Order: sequence, then structure tokens, then C-alpha cells
Amino acid sequence: LGPSVQSDQPAGDAIRMDPFADTLRRLREAFSAGRTRPAEFRAAQLRGLGRFLQEHKQLLQEALAQDLHKQEHSQPAPASGPLHMLCPLPGRFCLQSAFESEVSEISISQSEINLALRNLRAWMKDEKVPKNLATQLDSAFIRKEPFGLVLVIAPWNYPVNLTLVPLVGALAAGNCVVLKPSEFSRSTEKVLAEVLPRYLDQSCFAVVLGGPQETGQLLEHKFDYIFFTGSPRVGRIVMSAAAKHLTPVTLELGGKNPCYVDDNCDPQTVANRLAWFRYFNTGQTCVAPDYVLCSPDTQERLLPALQSAITRFYGEDPRSSPNLGRIISDKHFQRLRGLLGCGRVAIGGQSDESERYIAPTVLVDVEETEPVMQEEIFGPILPFVNVRSLDEAIDFINRREKPLALYAFSNNKQVVKRVLAQTSSGSFCGNDGFMHLTLDSLPFGGVARLQICLPAHAGQPRVSPSFHGASGMGRYHGKFSFDTFSHHRACLLRCPGMEKIYSIRYPPYSPRKLSLL
Ligand code: NAD
Repeated sequence: LGPSVQSDQPAGDAIRMDPFADTLRRLREAFSAGRTRPAEFRAAQLRGLGRFLQEHKQLLQEALAQDLHKQEHSQPAPASGPLHMLCPLPGRFCLQSAFESEVSEISISQSEINLALRNLRAWMKDEKVPKNLATQLDSAFIRKEPFGLVLVIAPWNYPVNLTLVPLVGALAAGNCVVLKPSEFSRSTEKVLAEVLPRYLDQSCFAVVLGGPQETGQLLEHKFDYIFFTGSPRVGRIVMSAAAKHLTPVTLELGGKNPCYVDDNCDPQTVANRLAWFRYFNTGQTCVAPDYVLCSPDTQERLLPALQSAITRFYGEDPRSSPNLGRIISDKHFQRLRGLLGCGRVAIGGQSDESERYIAPTVLVDVEETEPVMQEEIFGPILPFVNVRSLDEAIDFINRREKPLALYAFSNNKQVVKRVLAQTSSGSFCGNDGFMHLTLDSLPFGGVARLQICLPAHAGQPRVSPSFHGASGMGRYHGKFSFDTFSHHRACLLRCPGMEKIYSIRYPPYSPRKLSLL
């Protein structure tokens, strides 16, 4: 079991002041000894991870229900429940959690494990590359080597998926791994710290616990790769800590994902899909549509359709729905409640601090300069911003940082293709949301650059990009994870003979040698 951070260590004792040193030394020694390199070892770790998921599925689902769908712990703990050490939940929240956590946490992680197990040897194989005339008799290839000691830092919003899916890639690639789950998803963090290590080789793997202070301390150590998922603000902290050691990083960050809805669409179909992927996990999803861009006419057609979808999904009183979760923390609840004051509430708008409940909400008449358009919403609030044309929508998107995901709805394929062609984002999905994440053949990640096509729009306020945050850098899922956690070593094995021919490159140079090139 990885260490939990001790805060009561005696001052002045350099070794005991660093709670991570022993663990990291142990992992480094295992890596240097080559323990993680054989395919059999990697496969055994992946199988262990799979067993952990299968054998503790209920435990994980209960932990997820506690972290994301429950605001108060009022009932006594059942003595025999898997999480009996933790507070229990009313059944309705567990039911809700079971469906969403199955599709977005457990089965995604399991299918990544299965894919890695099926392809491990093929992925590990040296990759032959084309050769030039001078290397025809040689062997040229790319060898995928593990980096060494990898740190995975995860957020709270999908605390199993966003911890285990990177872990699958890191283990498959033959690394030793330190996992740092989020301190906000406390129940899941506890399961990951207490149960998961039993299924993995502890000389090569550890879970460490803590918040900003402890993670900052952890980041002072040298890792060979850092994989961070979280906010752009903390992404910057992680990247500057990594820069001190020149450690490569993947940053899976957030931002504001636009969703363009064309006039040529079926409003009810669009509304069903939008409501599903905006309010899934109570809107606490990095790839959720953050705002809708459409004409005033389309907005008028979408509003009743959205109201109808919300009522069908969550009932007349969404607060009592078993299918709607709660906001993760008081801080986020207060932040979101502040955003309800932007524009005008067209649907929802109710909130209850005692439960951290926020109703599925739609805001209209929103100005680009209002707070709800300045920060990632990360909650069940969907603002509409009106545009008069597709050109204006594309221009709006391109005035902001490149988003993690971009969505476009239209019955006209050409419209969807134009949005795709004239914008940039980490990922793109036409006429739906989230479904592109179900394909492990597609990479997942952000794009950490400002748009470069910035036609100035007369009268439009330019918004400082620092408000939005970049969507990240690097990619993973499926084979992309394996590649992310592997150093791609360029190798050429030269033929030892043929010296006479090869000697043409040696000095003294001459016009004749030059003519032979
Ligand atoms: P966060 O950045 O606050 O925390 C992420 C991790 O960083 C946690 O493990 C936390 O303990 C650690 N951390 C927090 N402050 C730190 C500090 N000062 N120094 C070092 N480490 C620190 O993010 P969050 O609130 O857990 O998650 C929400 C954010 O994550 C949103 O912005 C969301 O878009 C983003 N996100 C991105 C993806 C993606 O795949 N791109 C997925 C999920 C969430």
C-alpha cells in the first residue's frame, strides 16, 4: 500500500519530512532491475487490474455514489456492506450511480484493459521503418521503451476512469507507477488506496494520497513522465514542476466546449442528445457541451424540446430524481450558484445548498462577457449564445482557445463538415456528444494553443484567453495510451562490413565524392 501523507513528522528530520522518498526509491529500484519490462509481467499487472474491477465493482459503485451523488450521510452504516467503514447512501442514489458509473467508469476501464491484453505483444514489437539507399542492408526500427517512473495525477469527476485508464497505458508500456487520486472523491480514493494495491506488484506500483500541498511535495521529485488530468490552473503548476527536471508531460485539461446547432435540425433529437450529455454526471464532465451557439429561431424551437427532454429524463421535480447527482463540493456549488445569475433562466435555475443541488438549467440572453462565458461551467447549466449565421458561430469559436471538444448539429452534412474544417479542438463529434469517447481507436486529448485564424469582429469584445484555459497536450486511450507512456527509441543496426562503400563519407572530401552523393 502506498503511503498516506503524514503531517505530524518531526521538523528537521530531512528523511522523515519527505513521506514519498522511500516509496519512490523502492519503485526506482524495481524499474532499474528490469522487473516491469517482460510482457508476462505487464500482462499479469493488467489482469490484476481487471480482477480488481470485477471483484470490487459494487464497492467502486458505492464509492462513486458517495462521491458524486450524495450530499449528506444521514443513515447508520450497514455492518455488512462493502463500504461499511464509510457512510451508506439511500438506495436511489446508488441506483443512479450504478448506471452512469457502469458506462462511464467501469466498462470503459475494463475495455481498455481487455484491448491492452489482446494487443500487448503487438504493441511492444519493434516497428520497422522505411530505409534509404545508404541503409538498405541495415535494420531500422522504433523500439518502444518504458520511461521508468511515471506519476499519474487524477481529478475527482470520473475518479475511476481517469485514474485507471492512464494506469492501463502506463503498466502496458512497462513503467513503474505512482497514482495520485483526487482528495475530493474521498470514497473512491480510499478504495484505490486500500484495495487496488493488493492486485498489483507493490514493488512497482504505489498509491499516494493528498491534496495540493502533498502533491506539490510529490512534484518536487524527479519522475520520468507525468500524466496529469485536471484544471488548466493546476496544469500550469504541474508543468512548471516538471520543467525543473525536464520531465515530459501529458496534460488533460478542461475549458469551454462549444456546441453549434444549425437551423436545419430536428429540435427534439438535438434536445434529447444535448440534455443527456450536458446533465450526465450533473454536468461535471470535461467534454460536456459548455454552451450552445444558435440563431434566435433555433433557440425558440430548442427550449420546449429541452424542457420536454429534461422532464422525461428527471421528472417534474428533478431534485427527487434518482437519475440526477449532486455537486461535488460546497466551493463548486457556490461557484455554480453564482453563475445562475447570468443572462435569464429559461429552464430550471433552482438550487438547494443543503444538498448541493442545482437543477438542470438553461440560460438565455447571455452576453459573451458574463462570468458564465468566461470560465468552464462544470455543472448542470447550459447557456445559449445567439449567432446570426454559421460564419458568426465559427468566428465566435475561433476567437477563443481551442476547446477540448467541439460539437455541431445539423441535418446538412456540409454544415457539420464546415465547422470541422474551419475550427480546431481536441476532438469533434457531429450530431451527438460523448459517443466519440467510446472508440478506443480515436485519441483523446486537448490542444493547447490559441486559434490563429482571428478575424477581428467589429463590436465584439475580445476575451482574454487566460480566462478559459487551454485544453491540454498529449493524447491517450487504446494504443495511444501505450505510445504516450513509451519512449520511441530510434534504432539503426548497421551492417558491420561494406566498409569500402561506406568510406565515401570520410574526409578528405573531394568533388568526385560529392558527385557520388
Ligand atoms: P484540479 O486541477 O483541481 O485537481 C486535479 C488534481 O490535481 C487532484 O488530484 C488534486 O489533488 C491535484 N491538485 C490540486 N491543486 C494542486 C496544486 N496546487 N498542486 C498540485 N496538485 C494539485 O481539478 P479537479 O477539480 O479535480 O477536476 C476538474 C478539472 O479537471 C476541470 O477543469 C475539468 O475540465 C478537468 N478535467 C479534464 C479532463 C480531461 O480528460 N481533459 C477530464 C476530467 C476533468
